[in-house]
Amino acid sequence: MIYLDYQATTPVAPEAAKAMAPWIEERFANPHSPSRWGSEAAAAIEVARKQVDKAIGLKAGSVAFTGSATEALNWALKGTVEDAGAKGKSTRNRIVTLATEHAAVLDSCEWLAGQGLDLTILPVAPDGMLDLDLLARELDQRVLLVAVMLVNNEIGVIQPVGEIARMAHDVGALMLCDAVQGFGRIEIPRGPDLVAVSAHKIHGPKGIGALWMHKGAEPAPLLHGGGQERGLRSGTLSPALCVGFGAAAKLADERITRDYDHAEKLWTAALRALGDGWTINGNFSQRYRGNLNIRRKGVDAARILADERQIAFSLGSACASGSGRPSHVLRALGLDYREARSSIRLGFGRYTTQHELVDACKRIAAAAHAQEKLDA
Ligand code: PLP
Repeated sequence: MIYLDYQATTPVAPEAAKAMAPWIEERFANPHSPSRWGSEAAAAIEVARKQVDKAIGLKAGSVAFTGSATEALNWALKGTVEDAGAKGKSTRNRIVTLATEHAAVLDSCEWLAGQGLDLTILPVAPDGMLDLDLLARELDQRVLLVAVMLVNNEIGVIQPVGEIARMAHDVGALMLCDAVQGFGRIEIPRGPDLVAVSAHKIHGPKGIGALWMHKGAEPAPLLHGGGQERGLRSGTLSPALCVGFGAAAKLADERITRDYDHAEKLWTAALRALGDGWTINGNFSQRYRGNLNIRRKGVDAARILADERQIAFSLGSACASGSGRPSHVLRALGLDYREARSSIRLGFGRYTTQHELVDACKRIAAAAHAQEKLDA
């Protein structure tokens, strides 16, 4: 099996698995209980929190653990709107976001729109990039929050998040960044007030994410209960998941340049192995190169996926893949149904070897050629 689906999830780093093991096998205490065992678990969680915070690398904020980045994004969006409205803190009632955001952002925004929020979803250029002049025209005193992701999960393009945050701040709005695909891979620019990350995209465990919050920008809680996480996010934390997340974040932080360079080398090797006739979806230079989203005229990508069962890759986003619907991101680039259906997403990184990637790309190219011959 050759695993080329790093945007869907990443293999757990051995270091993270090892750090988690004692907290699964023996150390079962509730980190919120006052016993010595509980205090030890709480202390381990605080170490993990520092590790995640350091890897995020932003100043004057704090990290709250969540069950996923989906939860962190729901919380950031709904909690910020709730805070502004319910506490009467602000008359702002508008969120500006992009057509290429993850469903966790878009669907939360749509839900809020159903509750009366004024929602603006901006289109992107055919290369997936946001036109900053277009954004500037939308920004005014009515905007509460601008939500833009750092690295796109489907096409890998990198939005100028630092600049977008500056523009949002100029009109007094907050900026939320879904940094799930950028965290640990590229530096998170300064500027966002709220940043969502997920452990399983950085070689940590599934079932844990985090919301980084600039001081003063903490959203109203989404989950109520035991008052954990300074009353902001109730629910018993899992020491094992927190410790695994912390270990993965520490490792990603230490290896960021090495992992980035490795992804660049893999990208070049993949393009060479695929050969001519492929078009890259998304901007060529403003992108994270561990994501290669390509299409080829006339090819049915789902057939390649079915034929090459020893290669794990994706058709657009993992969520859209199962549904048979063309991905909303590819449609936002202006791709028609056929072009979207001929698109493949290859995701690779730290544990991918050049040899296996080249082998997989050659097989994918051969499968595409075979289809072309059959269909000719
Ligand atoms: N945002 C982006 C860009 C993602 O790629 C994903 C995961 O696919 C999420 C958010 C949701 O993350 P999680 O799986 O932690 O809920």
